[in-house]
Amino acid sequence: MIQLIISLLILWTPQTGRTTCLHYSDPDPADPNAPSGIPVLMYHHVSDPVNGYYGVSTGRMLMDLQLLDEAGFFLITPEDIENGLMQVPADRRPLMLTFDDGWQDNFNFIMSGSSVQIDPNCAVAILEDYCDEHPEFGRGATFFISWDKIPFGQEEFVMEKFNLLLDMGYSIGNHTNRHANFMVLPWDKWDNSVVMPMVKFHRRLGLRTSEIFAMAYPGGRFPKGIGAEEYLAGFQFMGKEAVRIGFLANGSVSSFGRLLSSAEGWFRIGRLDMSQYSVREVLGWRNIMTTGPRDDLHDPLRSRIP
Ligand SMILES: [Zn+2]
Repeated sequence: MIQLIISLLILWTPQTGRTTCLHYSDPDPADPNAPSGIPVLMYHHVSDPVNGYYGVSTGRMLMDLQLLDEAGFFLITPEDIENGLMQVPADRRPLMLTFDDGWQDNFNFIMSGSSVQIDPNCAVAILEDYCDEHPEFGRGATFFISWDKIPFGQEEFVMEKFNLLLDMGYSIGNHTNRHANFMVLPWDKWDNSVVMPMVKFHRRLGLRTSEIFAMAYPGGRFPKGIGAEEYLAGFQFMGKEAVRIGFLANGSVSSFGRLLSSAEGWFRIGRLDMSQYSVREVLGWRNIMTTGPRDDLHDPLRSRIP
């Protein structure tokens, strides 16, 4: 709810983070055996005017939401994937929205008299407004935070924003400590890159840090064929895996079959950069289901005793 107001007495100064360059691999070849895929869309800056090569305007983001809703999608989070997507209505298709880096225009607070409110033009407000009006679209998005800058740009509100996001049903993800590219990061530096963000999240979220288990790889790429997935899966925080699902930025839609059938697949979920793709191109992706009920996502429950 945009009307959600937090009373705070602290004065603040808006801050702008540094722009970080992204590098892309070639799209993975589509798996011909994949009957269905889950589009995961990636955004960075959402602002007017458009901020940088990877930014989109607020109007463009709103238009994307409308087109995706009309196309029959339903918003999910990484938690929903782990839970087998059981809450997705049978006549709707799952879709994930992700926002990388933690830019201030993703979630911005503005002063209103002696109180603080959510900037109606930030990405969270646009999403909230749209989802309030269109409950059939569901609600949810994942915000991947890199700690090379102040998350969402306003230091005095970091804790409030994190908690508010989780309260509202959004998901927070790990985007490493210093936005390090795993393709070139020495393996002895991975611990700091993966676990230090969890320590920082814990200072703001306490036990709720256990809700953070998704990772978006800075630069969008992740080493293949050298056991990197297993290595990443071994890092722990508070007695649990620090990362259980990992997202690339590779211009592909991952097949659901691959997700379910291999441990590595959970660490190689494809994403589409929406500053480079249109919703029409997303809908044209050949492994996105287009008609009929999604039997593959609603298989009958397996018997526990064979
Ligand atoms: Zn990034």
